[in-house]
Amino acid sequence: MRVTLWGTRGSLATPGPETSRYGGNTSCVGVRGREGTVLVLDAGTGVRRLAATLDAKVKRVDILLTHLHMDHIQGLGFFAPLYRPDVAVHIWGPASSKLTLRERLMRYLSPPLFPVCLRELPSEITLHEVPCGEVDIGEFRVSSTLVCHPGPTVGYRIVEAGGSVLTYLPDHEPALGTLSFPSLSRAWTSGGALAADADLLIHDSQYDAHEYAGHIGWGHSSLAQSLSFAALCEAKHLVPFHHDPNHTDADLDRLFDEAIAVAKPAFRVTPGREGAAFEI
Ligand SMILES: [Zn+2]
Ligand SMILES: [Zn+2]
Repeated sequence: MRVTLWGTRGSLATPGPETSRYGGNTSCVGVRGREGTVLVLDAGTGVRRLAATLDAKVKRVDILLTHLHMDHIQGLGFFAPLYRPDVAVHIWGPASSKLTLRERLMRYLSPPLFPVCLRELPSEITLHEVPCGEVDIGEFRVSSTLVCHPGPTVGYRIVEAGGSVLTYLPDHEPALGTLSFPSLSRAWTSGGALAADADLLIHDSQYDAHEYAGHIGWGHSSLAQSLSFAALCEAKHLVPFHHDPNHTDADLDRLFDEAIAVAKPAFRVTPGREGAAFEI
């Protein structure tokens, strides 16, 4: 599969000269299978550029939402295939204990927040609530479980026929409630089963250690925790992303250099940059 980062920023789109290298668009990752299946992981503002890469031959797109915080759905109304009647768009995402996925999405895709209602979009839209066990989407087997983050939130494990494993955990605080992380086995750690032995792990790294101390319970990880989580799960390649809006390119260069020098990971680490692509 080919995995492309279209949005690497957390919480708020942060365009500007000081973020041009790592990127300012919010969470969105594109996945293309060997047989042409298209998966879209979250629909942050990066999804608009992803849509521009989908030609008229694409007739089905599956959007896998981890949760409905604004930075993960803001691009949805600007996803061009939703306006094509010849395209089937499947949207996967969590319901809440009170509202269905459709009701939750309609809160954004309706006036006054957005001029068009979900039901008025011309594409053929099907909604699926997660987590729902393992499902096959084209050549991919997709599983999801609830993970530690405020509100119903899942992570995804995507296995391509043939064995490559991608794990996507953009908003994730597995260290919550621990005095030192990791303190439990991976089976008892949030997201551990999703990320076990992943070929590519795309994971939350919003904060540095000092910032994390002031944001415990906000649902995010420090870069050091992200590295520890990848080691615990024996991931082969970590892509830390969901960068804090306050971190400039120069800040991120420094944070990655320092954290990697301390952790000395035995696996590959590639800081998440908008536009980066990985073949796994
Ligand atoms: Zn987020
Ligand atoms: Zn979130």
